[in-house]
Amino acid sequence: MKKILNYIDGELKTPQSGKFLDNYCPGTGEAYSLVPDSDENDVEEALKAAKKAFPEWSTCGIETRSRTLHKIADLIEANLDQLAAAESEDNGKPVKLATTVDIPRASANFRFFASAIVNQSSEAHITENQAVNYTHRHPLGVVGCISPWNLPLYLFSWKIAPALATGNCVIAKPSELTPMTAFLLSELCVEAGLPKGVLNIVHGLGNKVGEAMVSHPEISAISFTGGTATGKRIASIAAPMFKKLSLELGGKNPNIVFADCDFEKAVNTSVRSSFSNQGEICLCGSRIYIEESIYDQFKVEFVERVSTLEVGDPKGSSTDLGALVSQGHLEKVESYVKLAQNEGGTILTGGERVQLNGENAGGYFYRPTVIEGLDSLCRTNQEEIFGPVVTLIPFSSVEEVVDEANSTQYGLSATIWTENITRAHQLAGQLRSGIIWINCWLFRDLRTPFGGMKQSGVGREGGSEALRFFTEPQNVCVKI
Ligand code: NDP
Repeated sequence: MKKILNYIDGELKTPQSGKFLDNYCPGTGEAYSLVPDSDENDVEEALKAAKKAFPEWSTCGIETRSRTLHKIADLIEANLDQLAAAESEDNGKPVKLATTVDIPRASANFRFFASAIVNQSSEAHITENQAVNYTHRHPLGVVGCISPWNLPLYLFSWKIAPALATGNCVIAKPSELTPMTAFLLSELCVEAGLPKGVLNIVHGLGNKVGEAMVSHPEISAISFTGGTATGKRIASIAAPMFKKLSLELGGKNPNIVFADCDFEKAVNTSVRSSFSNQGEICLCGSRIYIEESIYDQFKVEFVERVSTLEVGDPKGSSTDLGALVSQGHLEKVESYVKLAQNEGGTILTGGERVQLNGENAGGYFYRPTVIEGLDSLCRTNQEEIFGPVVTLIPFSSVEEVVDEANSTQYGLSATIWTENITRAHQLAGQLRSGIIWINCWLFRDLRTPFGGMKQSGVGREGGSEALRFFTEPQNVCVKI
């Protein structure tokens, strides 16, 4: 079986304990590689390497850092097919999605921050005729980046690239469920000539490696994307140490469809925003609110299109939904569908596993599922399922839908479908979500602030927000 290795001090290494964990392929249900079961000793080794590399990397100049990050982006593009196949095998997502979305976005992340850093300018404040203040932005030192399994290389690179661009050295941990493309990235970093110790990737379990990073006093910031419960745990350890934290957490996003929407566009995009990546995207719209007058028409069209989606071999070119990430996650999704039924919901389509044949017989496949008949406050509509399950809920007024859309502990994103642009703007302002899409979904501009309100997170990523997070401002006042 292929052995994934840690990337520490520029070298690919086995963990100090010599222990490995099985890494499963969701499409087959079989262990197909081994991932290091690292611990605090590996984190300590990575920290030493990162500290040693920091003085040189933080002062080598933005042109040098930018060139190196562009080189990594080039190599990701050159290895698109291999990386996409690996992402699909490791995560269960359709290879066509990894080829068109995940891997191109990973290289775009490196390229974006490689360019952003050379286009950054410092702020200056002139105090009438008395003084000039300028803001010096220093890198933080050694920072930690922890990412989840749903968009493995995409989210891993979204954190690492701005951290490196601003001159920090990084210790990063991908999810142990999907470590493969982070490992392949470490090989590309060696090829790109990234200096030793600048980026260190330590694989392993969240409660071992992740917590060792969060609780280490010399790791000065943690950028984390994952579940809200994990985010709370991380905050409870890091906050008393006054560690800088960026937390991108869960969501339970409303998708609001008004009667005056462009119906075709709303239905088609809602199918995508519900079930892309098997519904395992934090931005998926899992609660679909539909204005009463078009509820039946929307329901019929939506359910019809959802029921034609192909659940199949992630390698298949016509597959719309691949496998869920793990047996445990499949069981979690199943338990929520049972809960929905117990709460009085009616399944309109889906609601069951898909049994494939051949090498996919043991894979974790689940049919895209649409449920109606539940109110907004039931557990199904309040808790994050993070799988191919959505609910349909009718509404009759703007006030009602605002209240219901805002009724969860989450506030990550919301989508609004209406041709009445004044109403759309007004509604956007009333929704407690960090990201609002009007007549579109997942249309991303990497310069925009990305993140959630309420328990969907603290802080923002993207564009200058990320560059600010990974730097410490210092004001210098010069008296005239
Ligand atoms: P988890 O919170 O379980 O894990 C995220 C990462 O944190 C993994 O690398 C995990 O390692 C690690 N981790 C787990 N426990 C700890 C700990 N105690 N200390 C430090 N690190 C730890 O999330 P999932 O991987 O299950 O990802 C799904 C979640 O991520 C969903 O809630 C989803 O909404 C959210 N998400 C949010 C996004 C956003 O931008 N807001 C984007 C994408 C996902 P290990 O895998 O080994 O447990």
